[in-house]
Amino acid sequence: MLAGPRSRRLFTAAKRVIPGGVNSPVRAFKRLGGQPLVLVKGAGAWVEDADGRRYVDYVLSWGPLLHGHAHPQVVKAVQRAAERGLGFGAPTPAEAEMAALLCRALPSMDQVRLVSSGTEATMSALRLARAATGRDLIIKCDGCYHGHADHLLVAAGSGCATLNQPDSTGVPAAFAALTLSVPYNDLKATEQVFRRHRGRIAALIIEPVAGNMGLVLPDPGYLAGLRKLCTTHGALLVFDEVMTGFRTAWGGYQRVCDVRPDLTTLGKVIGGGLPVAAYGGRREIMAHLAPLGGCYQAGTLSGNPVALAAGLANLRLAAKSGFYGRQARQVTKLIVGLRDLANRRGIPLQLSQAGTMWGFFFSDHPVRSFADALASDTQRWKTFCLAMFRQGVYLAPSPFEAAFWSSAHHEAEIRHTLAAASVAFDR
Ligand SMILES: *Cc1c(COP(=O)(O)O)cnc(C)c1O
Repeated sequence: MLAGPRSRRLFTAAKRVIPGGVNSPVRAFKRLGGQPLVLVKGAGAWVEDADGRRYVDYVLSWGPLLHGHAHPQVVKAVQRAAERGLGFGAPTPAEAEMAALLCRALPSMDQVRLVSSGTEATMSALRLARAATGRDLIIKCDGCYHGHADHLLVAAGSGCATLNQPDSTGVPAAFAALTLSVPYNDLKATEQVFRRHRGRIAALIIEPVAGNMGLVLPDPGYLAGLRKLCTTHGALLVFDEVMTGFRTAWGGYQRVCDVRPDLTTLGKVIGGGLPVAAYGGRREIMAHLAPLGGCYQAGTLSGNPVALAAGLANLRLAAKSGFYGRQARQVTKLIVGLRDLANRRGIPLQLSQAGTMWGFFFSDHPVRSFADALASDTQRWKTFCLAMFRQGVYLAPSPFEAAFWSSAHHEAEIRHTLAAASVAFDR
């Protein structure tokens, strides 16, 4: 059992009043025995649990903490904003500043609407896509997670994969029927769906790098191929960069692959740990949104100034020249180290990286799709992951999640991680 006595006591108390003791299913550590660590503190690359044990953190609040926990400049920005008022529900300077920053960073984005969660961003972007095209159907990829809106909980990865629940109860079949799911990295299957439903597809939504089935990279030419298909069939291409935005590169993965989506969703890093998300794209599409057009979307907390202060501080730290290259080189060092350790022991391990995101599968062939990910050796993953936790390395408690890196991680953390992995691979 990973959790110490204090973690266990706190979790037992939580379970009485919170379903499953958690506010998001994957936090329950179901695949690792169902006793999560209750975390009380984070500083830089490290987190501390209720029993005073410390871990190098590769979850980083599931991605947002690009500069680690409680970065002094982020904390100071939040404090200053809080002193001026927690929220107004009126226009504030911070939201225009964030919007301008995002539109500069993403060439595909003329205008952007700020919301409070990735779920809200993808849900709203697809409503907008339907409004702009006058069509109903959406294409997504198996294993891609786009938040928990009804029509997107179809063949979704992440927590759904962990719970072996590729769908959710409570989703009307009529909603799910509007979503068509195709394998990731399969242009041919996607083209067939476009043909079969000619003139009825509003949008194709995709994680340009899939990060919710473990980390799975797009094949060369795949995203450009999707762009072409969408254009040919009059559908909008939506890049869900909630995870990849400002993690794979400044802006997002669209700047790496050089493909321009019609709409982009962002979240996680742009909030720096507080609730900020966004969706945006071409001006004529965004003009469909109320109050300009008839597509409605609103939010009491949208553009909250305290949350934006955290996000802006997080992004300002990443805007320094050479930031992403430096961090990516460190991640590569970590991955090469892990690969060497596995190779020396003859353990088949697939490692991948996209900027400051990385991932691994216990598999002897490359993982290109959700089916490949599901076929990986999850028993080995469990043994490895438990051993890593015992030695002070906090990894995602599911084999179908990406790992994250922050600028607070340095050589010492790489050494600590590789030493732990050496023991864990021996297990
Ligand atoms: C996390 C995530 C979401 C959902 O964001 P929430 O803030 O958890 O609602 C959507 N899409 C992707 C790609 C994500 O990684």
